[in-house]
Amino acid sequence: MKLLFCIECGAELSKDEGMKYVCANGHPYWNNPRTAAAIFPIKDGKVLLAVRGRQPQRGKYDSIGGFVNPEESIEQAASRELLEETGLTASKFDYIGSVGNTYEENVYACDSLFVITEWTGDMAAADDVASLEWVEPAVIASDAFAWPAHRDVPSLLQAYIDNHGPTT
Ligand SMILES: [Zn+2]
Repeated sequence: MKLLFCIECGAELSKDEGMKYVCANGHPYWNNPRTAAAIFPIKDGKVLLAVRGRQPQRGKYDSIGGFVNPEESIEQAASRELLEETGLTASKFDYIGSVGNTYEENVYACDSLFVITEWTGDMAAADDVASLEWVEPAVIASDAFAWPAHRDVPSLLQAYIDNHGPTT
């Protein structure tokens, strides 16, 4: 159980309603979702996924990406995370939608989803990624993927592939 104490005064927090928590001294805290970017490189109908090297969900497939840093745009976060986790650089990120996700207890994310089809650099798993693998998009809807909330992503990726034709 997280979110036990007020960050203003240290008193116990209790859940009010929705995302709002409040302590005995009346300090409110809104546990809003964090903003995150997920990047899906597509090549020959397959998608590049990471295998998580850290908890939560260590060992499961995950999208490349992560949380947005202070004063960063989502696009900047996507560029930075792509480089940090794969060694790749891309200049064109196509937005395909977003997904609300439970990251861990009391930690919620809203993931903006991007497809890339062109990139430069030498691919190398780095940072918190155990390995990188080209897989069928359907893997994202399976139990091997870390986040059940992403079950609709394969159809978004397929729609992108259908609209843009084969990618190289
Ligand atoms: Zn307080």
